[in-house]
Amino acid sequence: MDNTAEKTSPPLSYARLAAQSPWTTYLAQVDRVTPYLKNLARWVETLKHPKRAMIVDVPIEMDDGSVRHFEGFRVQHNLSRGPGKGGLRFHPQVTLEETMALAAWMTIKTAAMDLPFGGAKGGVRVDPFALSPTELEKLTRRYTSEISIIIGPQKDIPAPDVNTNAQVMAWMMDTYSMQVGFTASGVVTGKPLHLGGSLGRVKATGRGVFVTGRTAASRIGLDLNGARVAVQGFGNVGSSAAELFAVHGAKVVAIQDQWGTLIDEGGIDVRSLSQNMHPEKGIGGSHANNHAFWETPCDILILAALESQMTPARARITTAKLVLEGANGPTLPEADDILADRNILVVPDVICNAGGVTVSYFEWVQDFSSFFWSEDEINARLDTLMVESLRKIWACADHYKISLRTATYVIACGRILDARQVRGLYP
Ligand code: NAD
Repeated sequence: MDNTAEKTSPPLSYARLAAQSPWTTYLAQVDRVTPYLKNLARWVETLKHPKRAMIVDVPIEMDDGSVRHFEGFRVQHNLSRGPGKGGLRFHPQVTLEETMALAAWMTIKTAAMDLPFGGAKGGVRVDPFALSPTELEKLTRRYTSEISIIIGPQKDIPAPDVNTNAQVMAWMMDTYSMQVGFTASGVVTGKPLHLGGSLGRVKATGRGVFVTGRTAASRIGLDLNGARVAVQGFGNVGSSAAELFAVHGAKVVAIQDQWGTLIDEGGIDVRSLSQNMHPEKGIGGSHANNHAFWETPCDILILAALESQMTPARARITTAKLVLEGANGPTLPEADDILADRNILVVPDVICNAGGVTVSYFEWVQDFSSFFWSEDEINARLDTLMVESLRKIWACADHYKISLRTATYVIACGRILDARQVRGLYP
């Protein structure tokens, strides 16, 4: 076949958006992997174009009787290996471009874990903390109704992400079910347990961060007992990961969320902090300035907030030996290079935070079979899959002498593009 077949369509306009955006970070990551894709490299353009992107208007009647419009997105980046899978984010800075990048990272992540899914992501540009519970429910239901033509248990399965939770998933499942006329529990994951949710799902992403972090620490000879941990983002992912590190003897010395920073070199009581957090004021307490967080001496840095947080300047000053990407896309490509030059190991998002989507997969499977597993069974299966996936990635990194990130992309892109090649192009 002609090896220019995939290069004939002109680059899409969305590939030329803001210079340092999550989407351009993603494109740079794909470019780095292309030389290792061998005969599959001819298909690599597939990864640079989202398959489908939907922009929806979400009008709701507010409690005061006024009507407000919010912009929402659902992007299906790639469906070559199965239905779309990816979270829904409510945040004032959500954009189409950010959603594209997050969907693309889901494609890489599901393939890196060898789950039978593609990659998708959704978002609504809104400050959910400024809405009442009634307004939040209306927003969720109208958004779900607008995207219902492209989601479904066999098509695309949303899950929680930043500022969405099991309740939001329950509203989505109910709205979709009302439209199709039957209870379709498999349309979302991360649901409440009594609606077909899975044990272990809430803490699965943080658990995966811990499991991959523990493996990486042992590879570089870093003892978890007494290791100093700094955590940016203390929501679902950051708090569960921090708790597991603390349980295994590490000392959490710094935490930062969107409201402030806590630093205590003697160690922060993570469990008590997460139990007593104010839902709208975060970690509270005495706040140090933001910059101090990045300078706090630590061995392990967990990035569990948002994209683009690890800038070149921060990469130059961090004292961590190991960086764990709980968040999606937290490290800018230039910062990645600086960390590599400084011999700081990065466990990349596309494997580090894959625990959530893996247990979402378990939830989806359990919903289809209406047979539910115990939490021990789920955690054991999760740990095995994550350790095994990381082992293969590490072997690839050692083989080519490349970073764990590029190695994850080599394995994931190989699987995605192999599926693309075998399926062939329609028509
Ligand atoms: P969350 O809403 O529960 O928590 C987000 C945390 O980040 C909060 O503590 C918030 O205060 C903090 N934060 C936001 N902006 C910040 C800023 N500018 N500086 C410092 N802290 C800031 O969200 P989550 O579900 O824990 O997701 C966190 C990250 O992990 C996101 O990148 C998300 O895409 C990724 N992720 C989540 C899951 C999951 O299962 N929830 C799975 C994979 C990846």
